[in-house]
Amino acid sequence: MSLIVHKYGGTSVGSVERIKAVAEKIASKHRTGDKIVVAVSAMSGETNRLIGLAKDIQEEPSLREMDVLVSTGEQVTIALLCMALEAAGISARSYTGGQVRILTDEAHGKARIKEIDSHRIHADLDAGRVVVVAGFQGADDAGNITTLGRGGSDTTAVALAAALKADECQIYTDVDGVYTTDPRVVPDARRLDKITFEEMLEMASQGSKILQIRSVEFAGKYNVPLRVMSSFEDGPGTLISLEDDDQMEKPVVSGIAFNRDEAKLTIRGIPDQPGVAYKVLGAISEANIEIDVIVQNVAKDNSATITFTVHRNDLVRASALLEQIAADLGAEEVSSDDQIVKVSIVGVGMRSHAGVAATMFEALAAEGINIQLITTSEIKITVVIEERYLELAVRSLHSAFGLEQ
Ligand code: ADP
Ligand code: ASP
Ligand code: MG
Repeated sequence: MSLIVHKYGGTSVGSVERIKAVAEKIASKHRTGDKIVVAVSAMSGETNRLIGLAKDIQEEPSLREMDVLVSTGEQVTIALLCMALEAAGISARSYTGGQVRILTDEAHGKARIKEIDSHRIHADLDAGRVVVVAGFQGADDAGNITTLGRGGSDTTAVALAAALKADECQIYTDVDGVYTTDPRVVPDARRLDKITFEEMLEMASQGSKILQIRSVEFAGKYNVPLRVMSSFEDGPGTLISLEDDDQMEKPVVSGIAFNRDEAKLTIRGIPDQPGVAYKVLGAISEANIEIDVIVQNVAKDNSATITFTVHRNDLVRASALLEQIAADLGAEEVSSDDQIVKVSIVGVGMRSHAGVAATMFEALAAEGINIQLITTSEIKITVVIEERYLELAVRSLHSAFGLEQ
């Protein structure tokens, strides 16, 4: 008998019909003898709808009240799914995050899970019930409702799987696995049979929104076998696990990720002196603005230029701050650009192969795409390019690395 955690995302529980179909799927697995714990998202569109309601009242609502509000979406689906399970003849019980006791820190809107009390869940499983837990939410020490950040139901599922020592955590979604790139952008993207935690973490960090970054971190840390599969059709999905040793069949590049959520800022004509990068970037991070790609250049006249990217939502704030810093440092110019995207190629095989960057740059050059910034890590190469070239860039890289079906 195995213990499996299932997670169903927004589209998979997007209507009463779909909730009934999910219940049927769970019921058929339950009948084979599996113990099943389910984490669910809110019905698709619901979290955005709730955020919209709040914004109609207040520009910057309190984070505590936002969590009370947005956590309701998942409370609706747990109840409906349990009703559908009962209607299908399966005994089931729903719990909110706080009821399970998914204990988190107090960081409303981006809380981290500290501990999960698995007693209640085990007791229900032993009594033959399916347990349905609201994803995306928990409670802090004082009992306040917290949420885990957008896409956080993935993390709930993986954390439950780790706490319950489940045999596998299955993420059921609207695609039948992890693809070489987002199939919405490249129709001939290919489903991967498996991918390592490390690669999946880079893919997610570089913008592939198929899994929340934290869920992959969690799965890697606790070595929870994670499988992404379709809610709508049967199939093997994609297994995300530790790297295995069969180097032979390892592709150099496993996937391509992209991120349209960033904007670029540049400060030109600053002194090339110790402490200047700190003055510029330190002030930005002190304002709690996350900085991603950073590039610094020094011109012949010894003046320096620093370019960096931030989330587009932070661009206005970051620009205002940079203007102030520029005035303090006597900089020549500040500029910003929100029409950029980040495109990354990811693969553990890069470690042992030369010439990967050259292949990437050649493919982009052949399409006349100008590279604005470049950064690399051991298993990824990222470029920043003009937004209008995104699809062309991803498609040409996809074929340059032979990733198509
Ligand atoms: P859910 O609502 O089930 O959590 P998400 O919308 O969060 O689903 O994630 C699934 C979506 O992720 C897919 O519909 C697909 O468009 C997108 N996606 C992005 N990158 C990839 C990728 N590399 N492989 C598969 N899907 C991807
Ligand atoms: N409902 C939340 C969101 O839309 C959490 C999730 O779906 O994973 O972000
Ligand atoms: Mg998701």
